[in-house]
Amino acid sequence: MTSRRVCVFCGASSGNSEKYSRLASELGAALAGAGLGLVFGAGGVGIMGAVSNAVLAAGGEAVGVIPQALFDREAGRRDLTELHVVATMHERKALMHELSAAFVVLPGGLGTMEEFFEVLTWAQLGFHDKPIIVLDVDGFYQPLVELLDHALASGFMAPADRRLVTVVDTADAVVELLTAPPS
Ligand code: AMP
Repeated sequence: MTSRRVCVFCGASSGNSEKYSRLASELGAALAGAGLGLVFGAGGVGIMGAVSNAVLAAGGEAVGVIPQALFDREAGRRDLTELHVVATMHERKALMHELSAAFVVLPGGLGTMEEFFEVLTWAQLGFHDKPIIVLDVDGFYQPLVELLDHALASGFMAPADRRLVTVVDTADAVVELLTAPPS
């Protein structure tokens, strides 16, 4: 990867099990350990808080991008390596995209899903070729994988587009994919 920063999309909530925050912490530590910076939504709550806490605790770089209007609601963090406060959600997503060399998706809700599908559809349209990795825990994303496979089997998605998404179940596997020499 040319840039050493990875965008992580994830929930502003913690979900109903500690396993989600644990996975986020593992990812944060693994990214920092590999010298990969974090780009995220700058929130201090939920999974966003967990992943950024772990990156900063491990001495890594955390870059947050948040619209002014969400700063209080998502407990925006000021203790980051870089904080970008922007005007709109569109600016947030564009800047997160620009700053990052890859996208990793942790468990989350509607916001996370929207962000995932946007980068996936941009890749489908050929607007970028950055890796898109879904980090699953205990099958959280299996319904999503099934939906993608169903769209493929039903003739609505090309096999090449289905291959744009890689699903793994450990933070170490994410880092291995991101640091593998180009084939
Ligand atoms: P959620 O997965 O719903 O907890 O949301 C995770 C993050 O996605 C939060 O920081 C939301 O502000 C953000 N988000 C929600 N909707 C959008 C959207 N349309 N575009 C970009 N980010 C969003």
